[in-house]
Amino acid sequence: MTSVSDALQVILTQAAQLDSTPVPLAQALGRVLRRDARADADSPPFDASAMDGYALRRTDVNTLLRLIGTSAAGAAFSGPVGKGECVRIFTGAPVPAGADCVVKQEDIAREGDSIRVLSPDGPSYIRRRGENRRTGDIVVPAGTRLGPPELAALASAGIDRPHTTRAPRCAHLVTGNELVAPGQPLTGAQIRDSNSTLIAALLAGAGAELITQIRIRDELAAAQIAAESLPAHDVLLISGGASVGDHDIARPLLESLGYTLHFQQVNLRPGKPLAFATRSAQLAFALPGNPVSHWVVFQLFLAPLLRFLQSGVAAAPELLHGRIAANSRPLPADARQTFWPARAVVHGGVHELTPLPLASSGDSAGLVGANALLPVPPPPGSLAAGQSVEFISCP
Ligand code: AMP
Ligand code: MG
Repeated sequence: MTSVSDALQVILTQAAQLDSTPVPLAQALGRVLRRDARADADSPPFDASAMDGYALRRTDVNTLLRLIGTSAAGAAFSGPVGKGECVRIFTGAPVPAGADCVVKQEDIAREGDSIRVLSPDGPSYIRRRGENRRTGDIVVPAGTRLGPPELAALASAGIDRPHTTRAPRCAHLVTGNELVAPGQPLTGAQIRDSNSTLIAALLAGAGAELITQIRIRDELAAAQIAAESLPAHDVLLISGGASVGDHDIARPLLESLGYTLHFQQVNLRPGKPLAFATRSAQLAFALPGNPVSHWVVFQLFLAPLLRFLQSGVAAAPELLHGRIAANSRPLPADARQTFWPARAVVHGGVHELTPLPLASSGDSAGLVGANALLPVPPPPGSLAAGQSVEFISCP
């Protein structure tokens, strides 16, 4: 059996960062920038007023000044400011030639068409051309994941179609004769398909594109037909049928499609029957059907893979520090490497973790509230209330 860390290593070794494509700013949130973004102009592009007030010459602050015009944001005053003159100015407006300071309006007395400066020693209130950024400066370096501030910086640099890694394209085959869609009533031996919804939501949160999702019966021939007509994809996920039961078709399906299996079992609880395979650049997973296994396997392997495909950074899920909440029941240690879904909340600046009371790994509704994954130490270790722990945050 492959260890959890070896399995992730194998997956990341087989993967490569995806190519980049220009995308409109409105679609770039969360994507990874692939080219340094540089300022196309000085910022600010001109000396600009930082206040509503009057632009004038500092040597004139003790004299009566004649008002000769206005400079507003988007509408500069065209002439120069001469000796004994001033211009009404507003925040963001260009400071007219000749003026070397702005006096804020609270520090001015108006006398008809003239003004007098009441506080002659105030600051200049001018934002100098290029004081934020010079033309050609890098405003967002390549490799940055684009959040709201980075998108705004690209916009200010005049970049409306940044080059970012394209979204990983994922195809999802969901196997199981027992499965019915969420909107359908249950009869006999049926259960609702919750994994389709779970995987779609997890992929969306990981910046991946679910290009197709098909529910199929546990029949190899039908599965082959479905698989061969899938649109182009980077990652194939097969839910259910990952084990070696009579109806488990995921691995035979992958082999019949020309995939090479790299591992077929992981020393993991839940999620032992996880299999991973590749076909040239395509990556495929047979995911054990239990919903809790799905969630755990996604956090441990698929989330880091999808991050790598986009960022090119190969990294295991980051571990945060916390402690087990009071009144938590002890978790059973297991010979297999165990990861327990938990709820992390911050109390007094500390992450407190409550392991979820899962009846079994088939307990889909038992995952409600899960936002953390707790590694359980092997026997004779245990996790008791109040104990310091490391955990994986699963936002
Ligand atoms: P399997 O891996 O196909 O043997 O499935 C393991 C368990 O997960 C069985 O109890 C299945 O009924 C259940 N299961 C499989 N697929 C789904 C699904 N899409 N949604 C909810 N439960 C599932
Ligand atoms: Mg099944």
